Amino acid sequence: MKERELVIVGGGPAGMAAALAARAAGVEDVLLLERDQYLGGILNQCIHPGFGLHHFKEELTGPEYADRFIRQVKEDPGIEVSLRSFTVKLTKDKELSYLRPGAFEEVKAGAVILATGCRERTREMIPIPGTRPAGVYPAGLAQKMVNLEGWLPGKRAVIIGSGDIGLIMARRLALEGIAVKAVIEIQGASRGLVRNVVQCLEDFAIPLYLRHRVRAIRGRDRVESVEIARVDGDLKDIPGTDLEIACDTVLVSVGLIPENELLEMAGAEMDRRSNTPIAPEINRTSIPGIFACGNACKVYDLADWVTRDSELAGKMAADYLGSLA
Ligand SMILES: Cc1cc2nc3c(=O)[nH]c(=O)nc-3n(C[C@H](O)[C@H](O)[C@H](O)COP(=O)(O)OP(=O)(O)OC[C@H]3O[C@@H](n4cnc5c(N)ncnc54)[C@H](O)[C@@H]3O)c2cc1C
Repeated sequence: MKERELVIVGGGPAGMAAALAARAAGVEDVLLLERDQYLGGILNQCIHPGFGLHHFKEELTGPEYADRFIRQVKEDPGIEVSLRSFTVKLTKDKELSYLRPGAFEEVKAGAVILATGCRERTREMIPIPGTRPAGVYPAGLAQKMVNLEGWLPGKRAVIIGSGDIGLIMARRLALEGIAVKAVIEIQGASRGLVRNVVQCLEDFAIPLYLRHRVRAIRGRDRVESVEIARVDGDLKDIPGTDLEIACDTVLVSVGLIPENELLEMAGAEMDRRSNTPIAPEINRTSIPGIFACGNACKVYDLADWVTRDSELAGKMAADYLGSLA
């Protein structure tokens, strides 16, 4: 088994910031494993502006923000990037296995940083009755289809959930000529940034139905409508407030779950509710020498804060490795 000083899993903003910070703190050998064919993580599909206001004091799109780190990572002779490398196993002794085209690799690390990001909650994770027609997508997946693959999901859309991803996708679909009929939010206020409510909904006259829930998604082969109702303070339907909205597409934007199967596999203590590591300090886990950062550690609103805290993770890993010497 090959030995490496520091192995980082995940080449999004968290993994890249951690790699650069570890190098700045004296780590000589970093292996960065990314399952996708590009570095940048979720930023590659976030083509809207709003990134970097804190870290770079200028407004960038997601790919522009990522590019600033990708350049530094590629220029650093102490960081080996392995793309299309899917880490499938991690032990508490910091042994990792990963698959890359044509090979199964095993490596033993002095320290490990997990920067594996989040995945989206799906329709199945919230109770929405009705039929199972085509046309229901997680919002982030729809974002990838539209922004990276050039597909439009439909012509008339309803979005469930008013967090930042739902708001940004409402504007994105409107800009592509899709009629966004409504954004439905069960709480009394949007969970997204105020600037996103203004710039993504109000500026496009997209209605936001607060204190409403989707009672059913209807349609045989393809979505035909959603049925919504107003809810009271206990989130119970108020009789007589039903409304049917015709649409052919539903985007579900109801939260993210940190992707921490590797950490769990290694035997780290986990908070079952949030799927994040239990530890006294940010970026640490219950296993010495295994760290977690970025959205894998907690769900962040802004990539700038991911960068800030992940730099700290790189420094922590360097200190840990220094303490072994
Ligand atoms: C729709 C949307 C809009 C957003 N808008 C903004 C905004 O306007 N401004 C802002 O500042 N922030 C925004 N964000 C938030 C920001 O993009 C995220 O906080 C940030 O990208 C998280 O970084 P990360 O590196 O932790 O995770 P990610 O970017 O998700 O990167 C994780 C990486 O790990 C890789 N990976 C996972 N598991 C494995 C494995 N087993 N083996 C190998 N590789 C693996 C993944 O392929 C991925 O590349 C937005 C996010 C979304 C989804």
